This record gives sequence, structure tokens and C-alpha cells, in this order.
Amino acid sequence: MKKLIAGNWKMNGTLESGVGLASSINAAVNENSALLDACDFLICPPFVFLQSAKAAIGPAVALGGQDCSPFDNGAYTGDISAPMLKDMGAGYVILGHSERRQYYKETDALIAEKAKKAHDAGLIAIVCVGETEGERDTGQEQEIVGSQLLRSLPDTTTAENTVIAYEPVWAIGTGKTASADDIRDMHAFIREKLDNNGDFRILYGGSVKPGNAAEIFAIPNVDGALIGGASLKTEDFLGIAQAA
Ligand code: PEP
Repeated sequence: MKKLIAGNWKMNGTLESGVGLASSINAAVNENSALLDACDFLICPPFVFLQSAKAAIGPAVALGGQDCSPFDNGAYTGDISAPMLKDMGAGYVILGHSERRQYYKETDALIAEKAKKAHDAGLIAIVCVGETEGERDTGQEQEIVGSQLLRSLPDTTTAENTVIAYEPVWAIGTGKTASADDIRDMHAFIREKLDNNGDFRILYGGSVKPGNAAEIFAIPNVDGALIGGASLKTEDFLGIAQAA
């Protein structure tokens, strides 16, 4: 399976810098056929830059949203629906990122409703799971991630329409990465929870950089990376892909 190299731009950049980043990633990816053989590429810009980013990329780079509404349309001020993302040319949507779980109190049940809407719209849902530092310190990481998987995945979930991203909350944007043993154990646990279905892509996320990516990608059941900070520089994003 090709590694999925997915960039989560979060709430960063301007229209100009976002379009510049999308076009330079697109150009770099298309210059290197070995990278295209080894990896699939995805960028997830802020909603308002989606259309312009789409115009700046070709078929080698997929586009995704960072969230979607649990509703399809109607009086839901501020929401963006899964069909709207699809309409903008998105193929993916990140759901249940720990920042949304933490700052917007998103529950597993809400994430499952959003994932169902994403599936219905023909999007691939990247469903994020991961424990906090306190939960790991008290040995609860598998219980937490197991419960998030059970409750955040709707019954429409298949290996074709869903990607799992394991992102230990304490490793996101902190420069700390989980140890290779911890990643291996958790990815094996997630694979087992997915009925050992080897077709599901399981990404690792949390301070992935060009310098640590090779070690992370060598771990069994790591099928790519969800990248925050390092996805904002073409050189770092491509450096991570090169490690694959
Ligand atoms: C993320 O936001 O999903 C993430 C993994 O961020 P970072 O790579 O900056 O830790």
C-alpha cells in the first residue's frame, strides 16, 4: 500500500501563501516519479482557500477539508457540509481532530454523525483518535483509543471510505513523538480493532518531521502520516515523503 502523506494546514496562512504552498507541493511531487510511486499526497487547507488550492494542484495531490457539519444543508450558521466539500473538489475530510475534541467539545457520537455525512457525500473520512498524556501515564491509552474507534466510526465505515489517524494528543505540535514501540503497539491494536482488516490505512500523527519520518514509516501498520506544522513548508512535507 502506498503511504498517505497528509498535510493538515489548520488555521494558517493567507490566500496568497496557501496558493503558493499548494502549487509548490504540486510542482515538487510531479517532478519526482519515485515519490509518486511510493506515496499518495493530500493537503487540507482552511475551507476558504479550498477552491483556490484546488486550482493550484493537479491529480497527484488530493484535497481535503479539516472538518464538516453533521448536517447536509440548512440553517446551521458557520457550518460547511460534506456535499459542499465534495463540490469544491475535496476527496477527504479530517474528523475528530484532538483540537476539535478539546476546544469545541466534539464527542465521539458527533464525529460518527459527521463521518456518516462524509461517507454519504463520497468523501474519505480521516477519523482521528488518540490519548492525552495523563491517559497514557495511567496506562489507559488502549482503552481510550479502543472506545474512540468503537464510538466514532459509523456503520457506513469501510476500508475504502475511512482512514484512521492515531495522534497521541501530547505529541501534536509539541515536538514530542511517541516511541517506536508505543506506535507499533498502538497501530497493531488499532488494526486488531478493525477486525485485522489490512486494507484500512492507519496514519500516525504527532510532530512528524523529515528527521523522524523514516523511523516512523518503518514501523509495521504505519500507512502514512498526518502532518501539522511540517506540512506548511514544501521542503519539510516533501522531506517526509522522501523518507517513505
Ligand atoms: C496534527 O495537527 O494533526 C499534527 C499531527 O500536528 P503536528 O504535526 O504539528 O504535531
